[in-house]
Amino acid sequence: MDEKEKQEQEFYERLEKRGVTRRDFMKFCTFLTATMGLSASYVAKVANVFAATPKRTPVVWLHFAECTGCTESVLRTMYPWVDELVLEILSIEYHETIMAAAGHQAEENLQEALKKYKGEFICICEGAISTKDGGVYGKIGGRTFLEVAKDVVPKAAAVVAIGQCACYGGVQAAAPNPGGFKGVKEALNLKRREIIHLPGCPPNPINLVGTVANYLLFNKLPQLDSVGRPLFAYGKTIHDQCPRRSHFEMGEFAPSIGSPEADMGWCLYELGCRGPMTYNNCPTAKYNDGTSWPVEAGHPCIGCSEPNFWDYLSPFYQPM
Ligand code: SF4
Ligand code: SF4
Repeated sequence: MDEKEKQEQEFYERLEKRGVTRRDFMKFCTFLTATMGLSASYVAKVANVFAATPKRTPVVWLHFAECTGCTESVLRTMYPWVDELVLEILSIEYHETIMAAAGHQAEENLQEALKKYKGEFICICEGAISTKDGGVYGKIGGRTFLEVAKDVVPKAAAVVAIGQCACYGGVQAAAPNPGGFKGVKEALNLKRREIIHLPGCPPNPINLVGTVANYLLFNKLPQLDSVGRPLFAYGKTIHDQCPRRSHFEMGEFAPSIGSPEADMGWCLYELGCRGPMTYNNCPTAKYNDGTSWPVEAGHPCIGCSEPNFWDYLSPFYQPM
C-alpha cells in the first residue's frame, strides 16, 4: 500500500470512529460537488481533497465587530461531522472562539502563526471594522480592528470575508453608523479579486466548505460576481429557485405569516419577501441537514446576502 492509499485508509477509519460511513461521506461529497456547480465526474476528486490532502492549509480566523453567529453556523454545520471534516483539511492556527489560549498568549500565538505561515495561510475575517477616529470603536488585545486587519490580511495567501458584517459592514454599518464601520474590503481598500465574500446572516457553512474545497482542488479562488461573491453559490436569485414561484406567477399571495395560504405554499411577496432581489443558494443548499430554509418554513427572505441589506431592503415586512 503506497503512502496515499494509507492516508486515505486512515481518513476513513477516523470517520468510521465518528459513526460516519463511507456512504455518508460520499453522499456529502456528491452534494458539495453539485453545490460547487461541478459535474458528477468531480465527486471523487472532491472526496480526495478531504481524504488525501498532502498538507493541512493553515487558517488565521479574525473576529471583528459581530455576534459570532458565522462561527456558530460553521461549527454547527448541517451534517454533525462536517466541522470535523473541515478540520481534516484546515489547520486552525488562530481563532479566538475555539482556541485554548487567552490574553497575551493568544496575541503571541497570532504573531507566531503570521511568522511561520507568511504567504501560505487563508485569512478568514468575521465582523465589520470601525474606521472612524482611527478605528477606536473596535479593539482587541489593545489594537484596533483596523490595525489587526492591516497587519494580518497582507500576509495571507487568500482572504475570505464570512458573513454580512465582514463583507459589507452588517448591522454595525447601518445608518447612522456612528463608528464608521465598514466591511473588510472597503476598510482596507482592497480590490475585488483580493477578497472573497461569503455574505449571509449567517452564511450557509456549505459555501465556506465549497470555497475551500475549490481552492484546494484548483489552487485558485472561484469565479466571483461584481460584489465579490462566488458564482457557484450566489449566481441565481432566491426567487428563481423558489418552490413558491408558481404561486407568484399565478398571483397567489399569502395574506399573513402562518396563514393557511402560507402553509399551502403560496408566495410571500406581499409579506415583504426580498427573494426577487437576493442572490443566494438557500433553496438548494438549505439548512439543518437539508431540512428546510426560511421561505420554505414560511418566513419571507429578508435579503441577508445583499450588500448593506439593513438599510436598502428594510423595513423587511413591507412589500418593495
Ligand atoms: S416567496 Fe419570495 S422568493 Fe419565493 S416566489 Fe415569492 S417572492 Fe419569490
Ligand atoms: S432566505 Fe434570504 S434572508 Fe433567509 S438566509 Fe436565505 S438569503 Fe438570507
